[in-house]
Amino acid sequence: MNVLKFGGTSVGSVESIRTLISILQREKAENGSPVVVLSAMGGVTNLLVSMADKAATGQDFSQDLRDLENRHFDVVKALLEVPRQNPVFTKLKLFFNEIEDLLQGVSSLNELTARTRDRILSYGERCSTLMLSRIAEQYIGDSVFADASQFIKTDSNFGNAKVQTEVTDLLVRGFYEENRDKLIFVTGFIGSNDAGSITTLGRGGSDYTAAIVGAALNVSAIEIWTDVNGMMTADPRIVKKAFPLTELSYTEAMELSYFGAKVIYPPTMIPAFLKKIPIVIRNTFEPDFKGTVISHEAKSSEHSVKGISSINDISVINLTGSGMVGKAGFSGRLFSLLAREQINVVLITQSSSEHSITFAVNPADAFKSKQLIEHEFELELEAKKIENPVIEEGLSVLAIVGENMKETPGIAGTLFHALGRNGVNVRAIAQGSSEYNISVIISRHDLAKALNAVHDAFYTDLKKTLNIFCVGTGNIGKTLFRQLEEHREFLKQQNGILINVIGISNSKKMVFNPEGLSLQNWEETLNASEEIASLEKFVLKMKELNLPNAVFVDNTASPAPIAKYAEILSSTISVVTCNKIGNSSSYAQYKAFKDAAHKHGVDFFYETNVGAGLPIIRTLKDLMMSGDRVVRIEAILSGTISFIFNNFKGDVTFHDVVKTAQEKGYTEPDPRDDLSGTDFMRKILILARDAGHELEPEDVKIGAILPKACMEATSVEDFYEQLKANNYFFEKLKNDAESSGKVLRYIGKLENGQATISLEMVDENHPFYMLSGSDNIISFTTDRYKERPLVVKGPGAGAEVTAAGVFADIVNVGA
Ligand code: ADP
Ligand code: ASP
Ligand code: MG
Repeated sequence: MNVLKFGGTSVGSVESIRTLISILQREKAENGSPVVVLSAMGGVTNLLVSMADKAATGQDFSQDLRDLENRHFDVVKALLEVPRQNPVFTKLKLFFNEIEDLLQGVSSLNELTARTRDRILSYGERCSTLMLSRIAEQYIGDSVFADASQFIKTDSNFGNAKVQTEVTDLLVRGFYEENRDKLIFVTGFIGSNDAGSITTLGRGGSDYTAAIVGAALNVSAIEIWTDVNGMMTADPRIVKKAFPLTELSYTEAMELSYFGAKVIYPPTMIPAFLKKIPIVIRNTFEPDFKGTVISHEAKSSEHSVKGISSINDISVINLTGSGMVGKAGFSGRLFSLLAREQINVVLITQSSSEHSITFAVNPADAFKSKQLIEHEFELELEAKKIENPVIEEGLSVLAIVGENMKETPGIAGTLFHALGRNGVNVRAIAQGSSEYNISVIISRHDLAKALNAVHDAFYTDLKKTLNIFCVGTGNIGKTLFRQLEEHREFLKQQNGILINVIGISNSKKMVFNPEGLSLQNWEETLNASEEIASLEKFVLKMKELNLPNAVFVDNTASPAPIAKYAEILSSTISVVTCNKIGNSSSYAQYKAFKDAAHKHGVDFFYETNVGAGLPIIRTLKDLMMSGDRVVRIEAILSGTISFIFNNFKGDVTFHDVVKTAQEKGYTEPDPRDDLSGTDFMRKILILARDAGHELEPEDVKIGAILPKACMEATSVEDFYEQLKANNYFFEKLKNDAESSGKVLRYIGKLENGQATISLEMVDENHPFYMLSGSDNIISFTTDRYKERPLVVKGPGAGAEVTAAGVFADIVNVGA
């Protein structure tokens, strides 16, 4: 025989009750009649709490009472045959009248005692269980309603009563013997004290009822039926990638639930553990799923960390002072004081110098704890042996749990790395002496981010999620979104990487979706957005959302986003940018970005600043990191100029080549922006800096391509006229080159810390001789690549390759 407990959502609606009945029918057929333990209908306990509070403060509760009645009556009407309805209505009505009387009493006395409160709350379970027992009678057969207060005996600690096991066991067995031929429905959550007053076992306590009854009857299994597929690796409401665990030991389940996994109430494990009865957590809404088995036989799993749990809201109390040093019994006195006053201490850490003790309590207990300590240690405080206790609020606990943890080194390292990389500050650390658990106290603001980051870190076979925020929806931005959308599935399947675009902004509008924006219709979504673009707000929003693995992607060519990089990096958000203005302005700024990224453990990637998607920055970095020394870099890094000189041969004039380049869209609106060499200068400057030279823009010597008159022309039209007028100058260059078997190339160079760009003639032995189209080329001469330099060559401009470079940078974040 088994005990089956169904939680609030399982009795929350007509539909779920139908499912519940079918689960019971199957159970009866397979294992014989079970004992069924029920919670109140979903939300009803909270409603009763709020009604009681309203009554105590003189507010009107009549509407709530009607809602409560209707919820139950609707179920009765939907599921019971008409002749069976009336007796149930009558019984329920009696309960509702009692609730109303109690609330009236509370209201007129203006006082709500813990005892009355428990009494009021007990009606949630009593109503649902009564109703369900009648429904089961119709669908399954002989059923009996059991008010657990007649056999679960407790102390008088209302709200969180302790069970008296021995008498309870006897009474439970007695009740069972009298009714064993029937399907028994027991109210969860409630018991009674010696005086017969109703008590409750603590919120979530119906699970405990099931274990108490199960242990008393020596059942084969205690099944906890809820609304998820078992105990999950983390709270599924916060961690979308959480998955159900197949097996757990009692200790693991206890630790996980103690540290917040609400799916099972911690004390539930004790009776089951003592009687070696397995607890199975199962999903009413997926009844064929096997769920989680908690037992002695739990096998160790492939993951050293079984689960990650969290308590959202915790307060920490700090106690410091020299008076604690070497004083045996100080902490004994402190914690017995708190225990005596029924204050639950969630976690304790003490510095090894014994100079301070930090402990965490429920926020509702924080102030009381402080007062108690101040009272108890009055003399020590007066003598300045200790300082007044200090309360810190707005904190959460995150705990990693697993029995295998103690055999696996590096667990703490992985935990702290994941937290550190995401900018989560750890306020205090505690490791249970069993080493089954490491808990950290962090700011509540960081909890969701921390849970997701830590989950990703321990379940590495799962997909890594990057949360990206993009500014700029021009050619590159658009292309990037298309590429991300096209490769989404592939990345997920092949590389285990999931890229969610959380925010998009252009110069007019911005839009956010913390779950990820669809890239199929991002343009419509952005246009329809009500939010006016503001870089300030965009950055604020990124910080507020506080997502793990967050990346800011700058696809603009504007100086505005650059002003935000340092702030973004300091908020532990990585930056990927194709915008080269940032790295090619002052050296101090370039250095500041690098330092901020380093300090906060995030990435700052800008591969596309030089040669679009070609692996130039990365190659240089790899060379440097592997201890090679760069002797010389030579490069053609302007696709426009490359195109112009590659085609300036034979009969064509310089004027015509530039015109063609412009018509093909290879140049800026004013081709002089390319031909002046400024853009090229930026690239060679970035390379020089990455190679370790502290250069400023004015340190790069740029040799002119154009005669003065062309540069000084007042308009683009005038400029073309000047190209024609100066034709002889260009013809001479071309003829000089051709007559000596050479070609013209505009080459950037870095050697001996000097950066230059100049127009040169090279012969067929030079690696740049054969360049064609608008390709870029770069050659690294290093200690290792001395005889034959390392050459990277290929298309160095265009939206497609640039976006691909940005894409690659994004994927590499956190790698
Ligand atoms: P019931 O009403 O059935 O007792 P609860 O609401 O008490 O259900 O507990 C189930 C809920 O616990 C789930 O819906 C889930 O949101 C939450 N939960 C928190 N942490 C975990 C976890 N680690 N595994 C499974 N569920 C969890
Ligand atoms: N109904 C009670 C509560 O909401 C007990 C339970 O559901 O386990 O806390
Ligand atoms: Mg519960």
